[in-house]
Order: sequence, then structure tokens, then C-alpha cells
Amino acid sequence: MSDEKSNLSRRGFLGAGGAIMGGLALTQLPLDGAAPKGGTVVDSTMPRKWDETFDVVIVGSGFAGLAAAYEAKKAGASVVVLEKMPTAGGNSIINGGIVSAAGSPLQARMGIKDSPELMAKDMMVAGLGLNHPDLVKLISEKSTETVLWTISELGVKYLDNELVQEGGHTVKRSYKTYNSSGSAIVLPQLAKLKALGVEPRLETFVTRIYRDKDGRVKGLQIREGYEFPKADSGKLKTIRARKGVVLAHGGFGQDVAYRMIQDPKLTAKVESTNQPGATAEMWREASRIGCNIIQGDWIQVGPWASPDEKGFGLAPHFAQEAASMYGIWLDATTGKRFIDELANRKIRADAIMMLMNQGHKCIAFADAKAVSRLTPGVLDKLQKSGVVKAYNTLEAVADAYGMPRAAFLETVAKYNTNIRNSDPKNPKDDIKVSTRLPEGTVPLETAPFYVSRLLPKVHHCMGGIYTNTAAQAMDVSTDKPIEGLYAAGEATGGVHGAVRLGSCAVIDCLVMGRAAGSNAAKAKAWG
Ligand SMILES: Cc1cc2nc3c(=O)[nH]c(=O)nc-3n(C[C@H](O)[C@H](O)[C@H](O)COP(=O)(O)OP(=O)(O)OC[C@H]3O[C@@H](n4cnc5c(N)ncnc54)[C@H](O)[C@@H]3O)c2cc1C
Repeated sequence: MSDEKSNLSRRGFLGAGGAIMGGLALTQLPLDGAAPKGGTVVDSTMPRKWDETFDVVIVGSGFAGLAAAYEAKKAGASVVVLEKMPTAGGNSIINGGIVSAAGSPLQARMGIKDSPELMAKDMMVAGLGLNHPDLVKLISEKSTETVLWTISELGVKYLDNELVQEGGHTVKRSYKTYNSSGSAIVLPQLAKLKALGVEPRLETFVTRIYRDKDGRVKGLQIREGYEFPKADSGKLKTIRARKGVVLAHGGFGQDVAYRMIQDPKLTAKVESTNQPGATAEMWREASRIGCNIIQGDWIQVGPWASPDEKGFGLAPHFAQEAASMYGIWLDATTGKRFIDELANRKIRADAIMMLMNQGHKCIAFADAKAVSRLTPGVLDKLQKSGVVKAYNTLEAVADAYGMPRAAFLETVAKYNTNIRNSDPKNPKDDIKVSTRLPEGTVPLETAPFYVSRLLPKVHHCMGGIYTNTAAQAMDVSTDKPIEGLYAAGEATGGVHGAVRLGSCAVIDCLVMGRAAGSNAAKAKAWG
């Protein structure tokens, strides 16, 4: 902290009394006894000197941070992107590459009726109404425009004739990148930024946000040359943000201590799909300087993951895009279906965890027709790694997973009868009732049959910094925007409420990241 000047008089004033009042009081006292002007004033120290100055300083190099950087740079601001890890992209670059857009040209070509209002309704239903309607409305309304922007402006390639129906969505509305990965978006984002002269500064850990006594955020402290996860590594420096800081630091799915404070069930035993750097330092720092952090305990556990691979892997593609959409999920102990395979993630993950607690095992099951919908190459990889296994007969499937044969055969027969007897244009069966079954659903009878084992893993943080629709971070004590501070992406809360629908995170990150970057670039500079 050698670059900081101490507020000696304040420390002296606190003295023994400060010790009695404890840390909370210490951080909330105004510096000179006067009422804070711009909201919660929690920082008594500002740097003696700034090592560098930019108009817009962005924390995090995922979808949200890169979208913010792009818009800020295009608006003429000087920009820097700070990333603590040795590679750029965060969770975004390992993401599954599925992006929702309501009322898109691809839906029109496929004869699917949809609207931003329907998408917003789906998000609010899954979110149990905890979503902030103004944010949901904005993101749904801008979804198609933003996906088209990724194509025309960034050159992102999606599959031409395929849309995904994620659980909780009423219709097929999600574009799929050509390689089933978020890297198909992040790499073009990085390339476009590089052409504009902006390259993320890697191994640069943001340790402190400077919020001055006038209430404005003015810059950051960083550790340059940081070696994750060594907290004290790297050299301390300061960066001044003349117009704004954008917090796009993502979620904390890998931070066991922080996530257990929010939800004690999520112990170290529960694996996560996230990259190792998805930790909570900036969540703590944003709280410390007076951001209103909302809904932090709504942490999504992904139901479609597999115990047979680390992290997110590829199993979710099989379990969702083949077995949920066109196949079934089973309790292997009973040989019966146990859930609407197209229900939202929380409903499905809770059901699996409940069965696991009773010693049951769950599997995702699809036939040859269902897996033909997967992105080319995905099934091969899944079979090579042993995550998905193939069987020539239903009896062989039952035997491999210790399922009672008769019960399993009856389950598949009943499902097939229901599909056969339903209206092919609006198929419905006994369990997939909460959504419209994807068109193209046919009986499960074409060998070989494919199976993956299911294990829920910590996936997404629905909570985070509360922002308005201009992506300004809001102060916990005034409910007003914190001057000079913007936030976007998984670092923010209030968009998804209790449950994030699949494919709605990318669109959230891109819409709000762009808003954060362009609004920060337009802000009045302070120095
Ligand atoms: C495996 C996986 C698959 C997914 N698939 C999909 C999908 O198909 N569709 C969908 O809509 N959503 C999906 N999601 C969710 C979605 O990918 C994330 O919500 C999204 O990528 C978050 O983007 P972001 O820009 O907010 O944060 P991130 O991409 O996580 O980027 C944040 C960055 O900030 C950095 N950072 C954090 N703290 C600091 C600090 N103190 N200093 C400097 N840098 C810091 C992190 O290291 C990270 O690189 C998936 C998530 C995962 C994990």
C-alpha cells in the first residue's frame, strides 16, 4: 500500500473507539464527520499518484468485458481490459456457444413463432419473478439485434439450420455456434479489439476499487504480473479511470468459501463447470465500496453434467440437445422417468440431487435419430472419452446401468406410444408438459442407443451487482447510480432471478456489456 496516503487523522480519531465499533463501523464512517455526498463512502485512502490513466477501465475479459471494451473504443475512449488469469476469455471462452434470440430470422425460416415478450415471460417464470422486469425486457428486446450484430460486426459463425430449445424456453430460439463453444464469439471479439489496438492485459489482478469521498469511483489498484492464485504475487500499481470503471468480473462458481457463505450446501464436494479463476475477490470489493449486491444465494447447479469428465465438458450437449429435446432422462434405480426433461435447470437439478440423496443414480438416454442433431464431431469425442456409451439393444442399456429391465422397457414403450399418438405439429406426452415438445420429436426406437450418467455441478451465479438499464452500478445506501461505475454480465444480478434459462447468459453479457462500454465512454471525465 505504499502508493496510498493514509488518512491519519481519521485513524487517530477512531483509536480505541474504532476497535470497539469494529470493521463495519470503520468502513461506514464519513471521513471528516460530514455526511457522504455521493452515497456510501467507504474508502479513506486514495492513491498518492496514478501510474496510468485511461478513459474506461474494464475488469474481466469475458463476453461482457470485451463487448464493453469494443463499444467504448469505438466511441473514441481510451480503453484497457484487465484480466487476472494467464489467458483471456473467462467462462465465456469455455462456454457452450448457445445464444438466445427471440423473433430471429432463423426462427422465421424454420416457421417458429416467437417474440421478445414470450422470451421475457419464459425468463420471469423460471426466475420466479425475482428478475427485474426492466432488465429482462431490455435484453429480450435487444436479443435478435445483438445476435445479428455478432454476425455482421464480429463475423461470428452459427449453424445455419439448427436452433436449440433449452429447458424452460417455450420454443426453439437459441442459435448454436459452429463449434458448440463460446470461443466462436470470444475469439472474434478479441481479434476485433486487437485491430482497434486493445489487447487484454493478462496476469493483472484488480485488488481494489478507489471510490473517493465525493462518491465517485476514480480508479483501481492492480497487481501486475500476478500468478493465479498467489494473492500477494505481482507488483502493486494504480490505474486512473477518467470516465468509468466497468466491472465484468464474472461469477464465483469456483470459490467454495464464498459460495458456502451464500449457500452452505455447495461444499467442496460439489464440482463446478467454471474455469478455476471464477472466484469472488471482486464481489467482496464491490460490496466493500457500497455496491448493492442482490440475490447472491441463487447459485445455479447444472443438471446435465457428467461425473465421468471434469468441469462442463461435452456431456451437457448430449444430455440437453439430444436426450432432453428428443430423448428421456431416467432414474436408473427404478427404470422410470422422473422429471420433465425440458423443465428449467433448478427443477431438474433438485430432482436429481434428491434422488442421489436416496442412493439412486440418474442417466440421460437418446437413440440414433436424437443424436444425429448434435453438432458434428461432438458425439465422437464423447464416445472416445467414455462419457457417452452406445448399446445395440434396450436390454443392454438396462443391464449396463443396473435398471430393472421390465420397468425400463415399459417406460420407453409408453413414451413412444404417447409420441406416436400426439399431434406431430404440437406433440405432447405425459411428462414434457411444461413446454412445447420440439418439432421433430419421434419415438425412441432406432439403435444404437446412447447414455450419459448425470451429476449436477455448480454452474452460474444469478446474483450480483444491481444495475439500472444503463448498466450503472447502484449504491446500497442511496439506490442511485455510483458515479464512474458500470457493471455487466455474470458479475451483475437481477436479470435471471432464481433460475437462469440456458442460452440467456450470453445475450445478457453482450447486451449489457455493450451498454456499459458505450455509456462509460459518454460519461463526463473527472480529471
Ligand atoms: C462451461 C460453461 C458453459 C456455458 N454455456 C453457456 C451457453 O451455452 N449459453 C449461455 O447463455 N451461457 C452459458 N454459460 C454461462 C456464460 O458462459 C457465463 O455466464 C458468461 O460467460 C459470463 O461472462 P462474463 O463476461 O460475465 O464473465 P467471464 O467470461 O467469466 O469473464 C470474467 C473474467 O473476469 C476475470 N476476473 C475476475 N476477477 C478479476 C479480478 N479481480 N481482476 C482481473 N480479472 C478478474 C476472470 O478471470 C474472467 O476471465 C456457460 C458457463 C460455463 C461455465
